[in-house]
Amino acid sequence: MTSALIPTYARADLAFERGEGSWLVSVKGERYLDFGAGIAVASLGYSNPHLIEALTRQANKLWHTSNLYQIPDGERLAQRLVDASFGEMAFFTNSGAEALEFACKTARKFHASEGHPERFHIITFEGAFHGRTIAMIAAGGNPKYIEGFGPKAEGFDQVPFGDIAAVKAAVGPQTAAILIEPIQGEGGIRSADPSFLRALRALCDEHGLLLVFDEVQTGVGRTGKFFAYELTGVAPDILAFAKGIGGGFPLGGCLATARAAKGMTAGTHGTTYGGNPLAMAVGNAVLDIVLAPGFLDEVARKGLFLRQRLAELRDRHPDIIAGLRGEGLMMGVQTKIPVGEFVAAARGAHLLTIPAAENVARLLPPLNISEEDLAEGVSRLDQACVALENARAKQGAAV
Ligand SMILES: *Cc1c(COP(=O)(O)O)cnc(C)c1O
Repeated sequence: MTSALIPTYARADLAFERGEGSWLVSVKGERYLDFGAGIAVASLGYSNPHLIEALTRQANKLWHTSNLYQIPDGERLAQRLVDASFGEMAFFTNSGAEALEFACKTARKFHASEGHPERFHIITFEGAFHGRTIAMIAAGGNPKYIEGFGPKAEGFDQVPFGDIAAVKAAVGPQTAAILIEPIQGEGGIRSADPSFLRALRALCDEHGLLLVFDEVQTGVGRTGKFFAYELTGVAPDILAFAKGIGGGFPLGGCLATARAAKGMTAGTHGTTYGGNPLAMAVGNAVLDIVLAPGFLDEVARKGLFLRQRLAELRDRHPDIIAGLRGEGLMMGVQTKIPVGEFVAAARGAHLLTIPAAENVARLLPPLNISEEDLAEGVSRLDQACVALENARAKQGAAV
């Protein structure tokens, strides 16, 4: 099929028309169980009545006014996020990359406001993903994403994930902050050890650095906590979120302590759309559900259920599955075969999963998925594994 879209994506030959809960229905009327949730975005499933109600109610009133005026629902959403986290102030964006841009600018401006504009370097980690702007590809450090886009943006110093000695060696008079995903998403569901995060916190406190967590994928309930940092006992100074907070509406943002945000005064940053009334209505509606008593405990419980089922799957298919990773409903299945083949086989069984680095297929179902649908998904993975084993046996026999 010819397409007028610039082909930056190798898209599957599959288009969807509607969704219900954890299920998508293709334009051909086929039902797919979605363990990808639009890359951890559709946190409350498709056609969620509470989100539809909030969005349509707001759509009938007012879509956009700009940040030149007060936006009462934005004040409310910021306060609710602050009340539910370490943060003391919030800023809203339209995407994860913009949230990370804001986080990095905030960290740099903090030091400038302290009289140290030379402290603008940010330490980041191998395997990281922070988005696709010119600065954030430098922060992520993946050469495939950097190549051909001119000189790498200055001020991002990358070290191996989990290597505290390398971090210490990278700290210098120009260092402003350390930026890390508590669990790397695109990097293959790689969890930072809590002791490593504690060591980063101590290093930041010792050298006056800001600790910045990228919780764009891990945040807003994904791990069974509101933010993943709660699992580790280490709070950052600045935290970027996006994906799950909008439930499918483009919304991101940053939380920060008042101290860390002190440089971000009137005129230092801006966004035309960020935090607009439609986004704020949906963000508040997402929090109505995610912060309701017991919801996060249910996510954690379902995460354990999924992990148990996956452990059985791994035992049944030792030639396909190498191991399991993750927390809550952010699970990774590491495969012994190319992960693209695994994801394609799952899609053949009408289950959507998402490939990541290190041969890991990500399972990121909606947070309100039923236990029945979780079990159904694992049963479809089982079918996919059987199909892969049969294909391999045939190949082997043919050789
Ligand atoms: C998806 C993601 C981003 C980028 O978000 P966009 O909305 O695509 O700009 C940044 N960091 C992490 C950890 C992500 O998963």
